[in-house]
Amino acid sequence: MPPAAPQGIAAFGSPAQRYPMLQSPVRLGSLRLPHRIMMGSMHLNRELADPRALAAFYVERVRGGAGLIITGAAAVNQEGAGGAGYTLIRETAHQDRWRKVVTAVHDAGGLIGLQLFHAGRYASRSAFGLSPVAPSAVYSGYSRDTPDAMTDAQIAATIADFQAAAEVAVALGFDAVEVMGSEGYLLNQFASPVTNLRDDAWGGDPARRREFPVAVARAVRHALGSTPMLMRLSGADLVPGSSTPEEADALAIACVRAGADAIDVGIGWHESRVPTVQSLVPHGAWVPVAARVKTALVEAAAAVPVIAANRIVSLDQAERILGSGVVDLVSLARPFLADPRILSKSFAGHPTLVNTCIGCNEACIDRSLGREPVSCLVNPTAGRELEFSVLPRTSARVAVVGAGPAGMEAARALADAGALVSLFEAGQRIGGQFLMAGMVPGKSDFLETVRYFEHELARLGVRVKLGVSIANAAKLAGFDHVVVSTGVHPRGIAVPGAGLPLVLDYAHAFRNPDAVGDAVAIIGAGGIGVDLAHLLCAVRAGSVFGCPAPITNGRESFLIANGLADGTLGPSARRVTLMRRAGAIGAGMGATTRWAVVSAIRRAGVRTVTDVTYQAIDSGGVWVERDGIREHIEADTVVVAAGQESNDALAGGLAAAGIAHTVIGGALAASGTNAVVAFDQGLRAAAAIAAALPAAG
Ligand code: SF4
Repeated sequence: MPPAAPQGIAAFGSPAQRYPMLQSPVRLGSLRLPHRIMMGSMHLNRELADPRALAAFYVERVRGGAGLIITGAAAVNQEGAGGAGYTLIRETAHQDRWRKVVTAVHDAGGLIGLQLFHAGRYASRSAFGLSPVAPSAVYSGYSRDTPDAMTDAQIAATIADFQAAAEVAVALGFDAVEVMGSEGYLLNQFASPVTNLRDDAWGGDPARRREFPVAVARAVRHALGSTPMLMRLSGADLVPGSSTPEEADALAIACVRAGADAIDVGIGWHESRVPTVQSLVPHGAWVPVAARVKTALVEAAAAVPVIAANRIVSLDQAERILGSGVVDLVSLARPFLADPRILSKSFAGHPTLVNTCIGCNEACIDRSLGREPVSCLVNPTAGRELEFSVLPRTSARVAVVGAGPAGMEAARALADAGALVSLFEAGQRIGGQFLMAGMVPGKSDFLETVRYFEHELARLGVRVKLGVSIANAAKLAGFDHVVVSTGVHPRGIAVPGAGLPLVLDYAHAFRNPDAVGDAVAIIGAGGIGVDLAHLLCAVRAGSVFGCPAPITNGRESFLIANGLADGTLGPSARRVTLMRRAGAIGAGMGATTRWAVVSAIRRAGVRTVTDVTYQAIDSGGVWVERDGIREHIEADTVVVAAGQESNDALAGGLAAAGIAHTVIGGALAASGTNAVVAFDQGLRAAAAIAAALPAAG
C-alpha cells in the first residue's frame, strides 16, 4: 500500500505526468516489464542464512513496486566463488534456498532473475582452499593473490559450468538470468589486455580476448531457451591499459549476437582507483558510458535494451535519464536498500517520503566485501525485515530527546508502531551530525536523510519540538518512557595554548567555515577531521565536488574535465594541514570511501602528517614533534577534531528521578558510535520499548 498523503506536504502532479518514460512498459526478450527500473544485483552476505529472511527482503521490495529483481551473485563453481558467503548454484542445498525465494517473490507478484558469476582472480583462496584461476597469472591487488592461468580444459569446463548453472536457474523458476561480466570478474578479465596475457584461442588480440565471454554467452543462451539473458558488461574498466571504449562496445555487440537480450552496463573494477559509487561521484556520472554502448549497438544493428547503473538515486533522475533516450532502463540497487518502497512512494506522488541512498557504502558495499551481513545505514531494517519490518503495536507515550540519527530513527520506528512520540531537539533543525556531514563536498545527500525524516515524522504524527533543550529530567515525568539520544560534544585537547583565540572545535568550524582562516591546522584526522579538511579546501566553483551533477551530457570527457578520471583537481587556495597522533589518515572511515576521499583532499593540497605528538599551540600555529624532530605547523586557525564526549547528563537525572529510559547513540558511547551504530540503536531501542509497553487489548 502506498503511504497516505501526508498533511502539509504538497504532492507533485499526477504520477503519470511525473514519470511517463519510467512507467512505460519495456520488453527484455520474452519478458514484459511493467516499468523501466530494475533492482540491480547486490551480494548481501545473507544468501546462506535463513532463506525465509532472504525471501522477506526481496518480497518487501516487490511490495514496494520492484519490477525485475536481480539476485546477488551466484557462483557457477567453487573456485569462482567470491567468498565463503556466496551461493554455489549447482549445490542442491543452495538450490533449495533459492527455490523458496523464487516462490515467495512470485507469490508476491514479482519477477526475479539470477545473477551467475565467476570471480576469477577475485576469488577467495580461503573460501574453499582452492587456487583462484584466471586467463593469466596476474597478481590482483584486490584479492592479494596471484591466480593460476587456466588451461584449455579448465576454460571448457568453466563454460560448461555456466551452461549447467543456467539450466539450474530455469529449473528453479527464475524469470531471467544475468551473466556477470563486469567489475573485473572472470569474463571481464578475459576481455582485458591487463589480465589476459595469452596468445592462443582465448587471447592475443581484442577479438580473441572476446572469445571466452562470448562463448559463455552462447552456452548460457543455449541453456535458457526462451528465458531472457542479460549480460552485465563493463562499459569502462577504469584500469590503466585495459580495454578501450571501442573494445568494450565490440564485446557488447558480440554478446548480443550470441543471444543477449539486454546489456547492463557496469563501471570500474574493484582495483580501479577512480571512484565509481561513492557519494562524491555525481549523480548520473556514468550514464554517458551506457549511452555510448547503446549508440554502438544501434549503429551495429544489434540494438537491445541498455541499462544504466551506478549513482542514480531517485526516480526523478531516472526519469530525466530515460526521457533523454540515451538508455532504455535504469538499474537501482542501493536505493532499494535505503527504501524498499522507493517506487510505490514516488509513483504515488510522494518522493519527499523516500529514504534516499546517500552513497556512504558503510552498511552495504563495505560489508559485502567482507563477511558482515549487508544492511543500510539510513534504513537498518534492510535485510532484517522479519525482525523489524513490523514492530509490536504500542500506545506508549514516549519522549525522544535529541534528534540526531539515533533519535530520528527511534522516533520514526516508535511512531510507526503506534506510540505517541514527542521528539525534543535543542537545535533549529533535526539531523544532528548529518547536518554537518551534508555541508561536506560530495555529501549533500546526507541532507536528503534529514529531509526524509522531516517528512516521515510529520506523516507519522511525531510532535517535533525544535529549540528545546531539556536539562531537567522532572519535565519528562509524564512520559511512559524516555529515549536519551542527546549525542556528543567535541572533546578538548590538553595542550599548552589550547585556550588561545585561534583554537576552535570542529563543531564551531563546521558551523562557521567562513570564520576559519587561510592556513588551518586540524588536530585529529579521523572521519570528522578528513571531512572538515575537505569542506575547507574544496570550494572551487565548478569542481566535481561543488557543482550540481550533470545527468546526461553525453560526454565521457566530463569525467576527465572534472578530475574523476585523471586526478587533475587543482589545489585549494587554503593551506590545510591534517595531523594525527597514531593510525592512518581517515582511519575508521569505510573501506570503499576512505581512499577516495583521502586522495581527493591530497589532490586539493592538504598536507597530512601522522605519528606526531602535540607539544604546544601558539599564536602562529602548532608545535609538534615527529621522529624526535620538532616542527612548527604554521596556522592562523587551529581546529580540534580529536574525538568526542557523550552528552549523557540527562540520563543521570532520569535515573535519579526513577523515570524509565533508554540511552542510545553517542550519548551512550562517544567512541565507536558511528552513524551505522546510531541508526541501528535507534531501531533496536524502539523495538524493545514497543515490546515492553504493548498496546492495551
Ligand atoms: Fe546507500 Fe549507505 Fe544505505 Fe548503502 S548503507 S544503501 S550506500 S545509504
